[in-house]
Amino acid sequence: MAKGPVYVMLWFDTEDYIEPAADDAALRIATDLEKAGVRATFKVVGEKARVLESRGRRDVIRALAQHDIGYHSNFHSIQPTPALYLRGMGWLDGAAEFERRERPGVDDIRRIFGVTPSCYGQPGSSWGPQSYRALLRMGIPVYLDEGEQVGVDEQPFWLGGMLHVFHMGRNLIRPSLNDENLLPQTFEKFDHAAEALEARGGGVISTYFHPTEFVTTAFWDMNFAKGANPERSEWRKPPRRTAEDSERCYQILSRYVEHAKTRASARFITARDLPMLYDSPVGRTQDRSILARHMAERQTFLTTEDGALSAAEMLQALLGMEPAAVEGPVARGESSYRATTITRPAFERAKADVTGTIRANRRLPADVWIGSEKLSLADFAATLGADDGASAAVAVRKGNPEMEKHVSTDGKGTFNWPIHPEGFSAPQLLELARLQAWTLKPARLK
Ligand SMILES: [Zn+2]
Repeated sequence: MAKGPVYVMLWFDTEDYIEPAADDAALRIATDLEKAGVRATFKVVGEKARVLESRGRRDVIRALAQHDIGYHSNFHSIQPTPALYLRGMGWLDGAAEFERRERPGVDDIRRIFGVTPSCYGQPGSSWGPQSYRALLRMGIPVYLDEGEQVGVDEQPFWLGGMLHVFHMGRNLIRPSLNDENLLPQTFEKFDHAAEALEARGGGVISTYFHPTEFVTTAFWDMNFAKGANPERSEWRKPPRRTAEDSERCYQILSRYVEHAKTRASARFITARDLPMLYDSPVGRTQDRSILARHMAERQTFLTTEDGALSAAEMLQALLGMEPAAVEGPVARGESSYRATTITRPAFERAKADVTGTIRANRRLPADVWIGSEKLSLADFAATLGADDGASAAVAVRKGNPEMEKHVSTDGKGTFNWPIHPEGFSAPQLLELARLQAWTLKPARLK
């Protein structure tokens, strides 16, 4: 059997708008990679793009534009960062606020680089699921970053209609710039990951750096540590590496790239390539009895040889709908219906009601009316899965939303970032992600 392709995604968070030497670092990296025949993804901060323009760095802009251009927020670390303002908001108002704050940055990237960014990734760990709805509206289909809030099997996945490269675990490979003696170990880690991916038919290895890291020894945005928000005139430049030290860093990157290139199965891809290599966000429906049995037992995605389906897609299929891209519910419903069965006519009315609300809103409801009482969406889905479609009384089943296991419960640790206010935690954002997990499923290589 042919070995599956190993797609290496090399990406650079291009964000330091304080230290001008970081502009030269971005230029050097983009040029070196081009010479090596490798295309990378540069996720550019809106303010960084504007600063490159105002400093007259057309050379940097041109060199980066030879690669793929993504988006890394409008201001990165200027307070309030995304998780901070999204934490107190719901799904719809949060998405609108994210779009209001972030659209100007996307517009500037478009104007300065001449392309719509291929992807987005949050500053630091300042992630919030409401960004998905806004990003799709802004024409950005890929979420490329690293974080621990949500993940599936250390490989790309679909959530909220966005193709994610996130929480990559063993498939996240990062050479240390501070110690080239660790390179052999990193190469070994790369080879192990590549072998495992080849054996399972292919997959993605994610590697990232920041151009600023190649010229500084501490992060530029420590200006904003622990929630600080100094005026521009008070911003301090980060400490610099010596020229020789920077050169050593560039060599480490080159050696890593050369190592990856020696592997026959390895191919460098960008965020713009990714959607073409993976399946579409809406899967093909499968045998109804298989979906019904699965949904009766557990509400989570299903993977078979025919592809992957999210719980949301299966729910639509079981309702007799053609599955479409929908959002998860905006709130957690709770069952108030206490009887153990539902009469056939009442259940059929509930099904029609849910079908109507999904069609009208392109979103799953939090709960389902049975007369004046309600079933939570998970309880309804389990009941629907177990229903034979004929008996006069439909037995109510308890839901089992297993999909939520893929979302972290660590509201503090997953949002740990020196720029967030001390002790910051955002369990509310993880709860929103659990609700959106109705749309979660692994992405499958075409
Ligand atoms: Zn960043």
